Amino acid sequence: MSNADAFAARKATLVARLAAEGGGAGIRKHSSSNLFRYRPRGGAHAAIDLRDFNHVLRMDAQARTLEVEGLATYEAIVDATLPHGFVPLITPELKDITIAGATVGIGIESNCFRHGFVHDGLLEAEVLLADGRIVTCAPDNDHADLFQALPNSYGTLGYILRVSMKLMPAAPYVHLETTPCRGVDDFLATMQTATRRDDVDFIEGMAYSGKRLFVTIARFSDAVPRVDDILRENIFYKLVERQRDVCLTTKDYLFRYDPEWFWNIPESWPYRLFRRLAPESMRRSGFYKRYSVFKNRLLSALPWRAREREEPLIQDWEVPWEKAAELMRFAMSEADLSGKPWIATPIRPGRAPTLYPVAPGELYFNLGCYCQVRKRPEKGDYYYTKVIDRKCFDLGGVKMLYSSTFIDEDEFNRIYNGAAYSALKSKYDPEGKLKTLYEKCVLRNV
Ligand SMILES: Cc1cc2nc3c(=O)[nH]c(=O)nc-3n(C[C@H](O)[C@H](O)[C@H](O)COP(=O)(O)OP(=O)(O)OC[C@H]3O[C@@H](n4cnc5c(N)ncnc54)[C@H](O)[C@@H]3O)c2cc1C
Repeated sequence: MSNADAFAARKATLVARLAAEGGGAGIRKHSSSNLFRYRPRGGAHAAIDLRDFNHVLRMDAQARTLEVEGLATYEAIVDATLPHGFVPLITPELKDITIAGATVGIGIESNCFRHGFVHDGLLEAEVLLADGRIVTCAPDNDHADLFQALPNSYGTLGYILRVSMKLMPAAPYVHLETTPCRGVDDFLATMQTATRRDDVDFIEGMAYSGKRLFVTIARFSDAVPRVDDILRENIFYKLVERQRDVCLTTKDYLFRYDPEWFWNIPESWPYRLFRRLAPESMRRSGFYKRYSVFKNRLLSALPWRAREREEPLIQDWEVPWEKAAELMRFAMSEADLSGKPWIATPIRPGRAPTLYPVAPGELYFNLGCYCQVRKRPEKGDYYYTKVIDRKCFDLGGVKMLYSSTFIDEDEFNRIYNGAAYSALKSKYDPEGKLKTLYEKCVLRNV
């Protein structure tokens, strides 16, 4: 059976199952989720089983396009395309992120200054609607409104079963060069200047303080003098600061934060041993995510719990480039990341998605933070998230919604184009079978 026939058969099975059993407000999938809600999510709910929709269907090297099912992970996609000298325009940095998750949840990487967000590389999507119909949406067909609204919809308008996406040529290696910066202004100027250079493929900055910050500029390369090991020997984010030149295979570069789940694997001796000896299947973010969910469930079942001194600060914010210095200075003066870095990258959006208000062609500054911070008990829970979100919104910015958010529904609707969303919801999910974006991303039901 061809891949196209196999996909058609999977769709027919799905439609028949939904007709017999009804739908659900969430999905089941093989790979681990990269949603991050600070508090445990609501109880069990009926879920649509999309586990089989994870295949790469067809690559057209001539046209530089790829057809892939929605639940295919970026690792599966890169494994299928890189041997032929191609990768997606944007490859999010964790192996288990899926093409659909990164589309509906906003996907970024260190080359967003050139190619925009993940959704900017999307050509078409086949979407399962709440009533069981499957529609194909594209920028110029009858469902163009759905296509434009997929980014930041988090599955509340329907579930993506298949996409067609753009690819770009990729060399086998990536050569990285890191430059220390004198301060926030130098850091931002170094990144902005690099966005204008044709010989630069990737730009990323890390900042520990106003005095310890650096920018890494990277480019594809056909040959490198050596290949650095970031699975066992080195921890990526430490290596780039220590060693001006770093050479990686392209796959290692694209998923450079996966072995350490950014910087969330401790450096105490048991973990050093783990880093050296654990099988590769355990040295990946998907394993750590499952392990941390299991550990948190276990801890929350204990009759007594130690007072929590720390809380997560796991967020991504985008502000117009001219507001970058203000956001950065504010965030760094408010939150102490206990030796972990802030991460930053420039982004130039290609389109204006309906539910993620960014201006196409304008340069944005993305600031990310993925670690635990010490609580300030006198300020209440999640103080840092709340104040940095507020600053970001006040600066005309927007934040991704994969983590926790604490704003009221009116403000949420003002920021994320609630009026257009209501119209789309009435059209594509008139019975409200799926949750709303606010319910899903702020009230954290599913
Ligand atoms: C620690 C951390 C680091 C991150 N790092 C990066 C990064 O480096 N780059 C980046 O781009 N992003 C990053 N993200 C954000 C991540 O891309 C988003 O959370 C994304 O939505 C995760 O996609 P997933 O495939 O894991 O889907 P899930 O986490 O399983 O689901 C995410 C949302 O998408 C919906 N969804 C899933 N599948 C479908 C479908 N087929 N159709 C419609 N809706 C669907 C789900 O219902 C859910 O609401 C990070 C997130 C975390 C927590």
